Amino acid sequence: MEVELTAPNGRNWTQPLGLFINNKFVKSSNEQKLASINPTTEEEICSVYAATSDDIDTAVAAARKAFKDPSWKSLSGTERGALMLRLADLVSQHAETLATIECLDNGKPYTTALTENVPEVVNVFRYYGGYADKNFGQVIDVGPAKFAYTVKEPLGVCGQIIPWNYPLDMAAWKLGPALCCGNTVVLKLAEQTPLSMLYLAKLIKEAGFPPGVVNIINGYGREAGAALVQHPQVDKIAFTGSTATGKEIMKMASATMKNITLETGGKSPLIVFEDADLDLAATWSHIGIMSNQGQICTATSRILVHEKIYDDFTEKFKAKIQEISVLGDPFEETTFQGPQVTRQQYERILSYINIGKEEGATVFLGGEAAPQKGKGFFIAPTVFTNVKPTMKIYREEIFGPCVAIAPFKTEEEAIEMANDSTYGLGSALFTRDLSRAHRVAREIEAGMVWINSSNDSDFRIPFGGVKQSGIGRELGEAGLAPYCNVKAVHVNMAT
Ligand code: NAD
Repeated sequence: MEVELTAPNGRNWTQPLGLFINNKFVKSSNEQKLASINPTTEEEICSVYAATSDDIDTAVAAARKAFKDPSWKSLSGTERGALMLRLADLVSQHAETLATIECLDNGKPYTTALTENVPEVVNVFRYYGGYADKNFGQVIDVGPAKFAYTVKEPLGVCGQIIPWNYPLDMAAWKLGPALCCGNTVVLKLAEQTPLSMLYLAKLIKEAGFPPGVVNIINGYGREAGAALVQHPQVDKIAFTGSTATGKEIMKMASATMKNITLETGGKSPLIVFEDADLDLAATWSHIGIMSNQGQICTATSRILVHEKIYDDFTEKFKAKIQEISVLGDPFEETTFQGPQVTRQQYERILSYINIGKEEGATVFLGGEAAPQKGKGFFIAPTVFTNVKPTMKIYREEIFGPCVAIAPFKTEEEAIEMANDSTYGLGSALFTRDLSRAHRVAREIEAGMVWINSSNDSDFRIPFGGVKQSGIGRELGEAGLAPYCNVKAVHVNMAT
C-alpha cells in the first residue's frame, strides 16, 4: 500500500498508494491501478489505486457516518479550527517533501512549489481554521410578536473534484471552507497528479481528524468522478476543471438537485492602454501567461494592446520572456518553466500552435516543442501577434505557455474585445489613469479584475468566474457561503 521513493534532489519519502477512507489507506475494490508519470523524464513514478463506483459508495458511507458522529458533529467551531491549525502546522513541517512530490508528479519548479504552493495550503488552512468559530447566523428584528434568528449549518457530505494544475492548492481551497463549516468530504484527485495529496492525507490523520471526515480518492473522472456526482448520499459537489466537464457535472447533479460550485475555464484578457507603464505591463503579462507552464485557469492568454504602443510593448514583453522563462529540469533552481503536465496536454498545446500558424497569425516567439536532453513535455514560450478575434487561438482556452496579442484603437473597442468571449474568469488592465482604471473594471465581464498586475490572487479575496467560467466563489469570506445552509428559525412570541 506504500512505496519508498527518492527524487532527483535526494529527498526520500514513503508514498501512500491506496485510497484514503476512514483514515486508512485501502486498495480499490477490483485492485485497479493507474500510473503516475514524471513529465520531465516521461517515466512512471509509481502506480496508485484507482477508485471504482463501489469504492465511492464506501467513501461516501464513511463520510455520511462521520457527519453524524459526535466526534465531529459535536465539536465547537473553535475545536474544528484547532484541528485545521494543527494540519496547517504539519503541512508546514513537511513542506520540502510535499514540494518535492509536486515537482516530480506535476513538473512545476520545485522552488515555486516550496515558496508558493505549499505556503498557500498553510495559509488557506489557517485562514479557514480561524473562521471556524466566527461564521454564525443573525438575529433578525421583525417586531415584538416574533423572535427570529438564523443558524449556519453544514450541508453534509461534500464531493470535491480537482484538476492537475495545482493539486495541493486546489485541494486546500476546497477542504478549507468545507471543514470550517463542519461538513465531511470525499475529495477526488486528478488522475494525472495524485501523489502530493495522498501524502498529505497522512497528515490529516496525524492532525487528529476523526475517521471518515476527510476521504481522499484517486481515480478516473468518468468512473470515480461521475459516481461521486451522481451519488444520492452526497449533498454538494464542488468542481474545478474544464468547462465541458463542468456542464456534464451540472447535468448529472440535477437528478438529485445537488448544491454545486463550479470553477471552470477561461480566456482572460489583459489590456494595455497607451498611457500604461510598459515595463510594468510586460512584467505582469509574463507572469500572467507563463507562470505554472501556462496551466492557469485565469491565465491572461489574450493581450490587447493600444495600437500606438503595440510595437514597444511587444518588444518589451518578448525581452521579458527571453530573460525569465528559463526552461529546464524543474528541480534546478534556475528553472522558471518545467514540462507540461502530460503528453496529452503537450500535444493539445502543439496542435493549437499549428492551428495559429494555419490561421495566419505571426509567430513572434517560440512556436515549437522544446524537449530537454531529448525528453519531457516541454514547449517553448509562444507569442502570436497579428491575431484576429475570429481565430481559434484568440477564442479557445489553450492552457499552456501560449499567448495571442491583438491591437485596439479605443477604450470602447478594448472593452468590447475583452468581453467578446464565452468565458469571464480573470482580467487585467494597465493604465496610469485612475478614472479609466475603475471605469473599465466596471465594464469588464469577469469575476476578477487586476489593475496594473495579473494573477496575483490571494486566499483572503474571493475567486471565481461569470459566464461559462463557473458558478459560486472560493476563498475569502465569500468562500464559506457555498458550504453552509442558512436555516431560519421563527419563534412566535404572541400569546
Ligand atoms: P477535466 O475537467 O477533464 O478534469 C478535472 C477533474 O474532473 C479531474 O479530477 C477529472 O478526473 C474529473 N472529471 C473528468 N470528467 C469527469 C466526469 N465526467 N465526472 C466527474 N468528474 C470528472 O479538466 P482537466 O483537463 O483535468 O483540467 C484543465 C481544465 O481545468 C482547464 O480547462 C482549466 O481552465 C480548468 N481549470 C479551472 C480552474 C478554475 O479555478 N476555474 C482551475 C484549474 C483548472
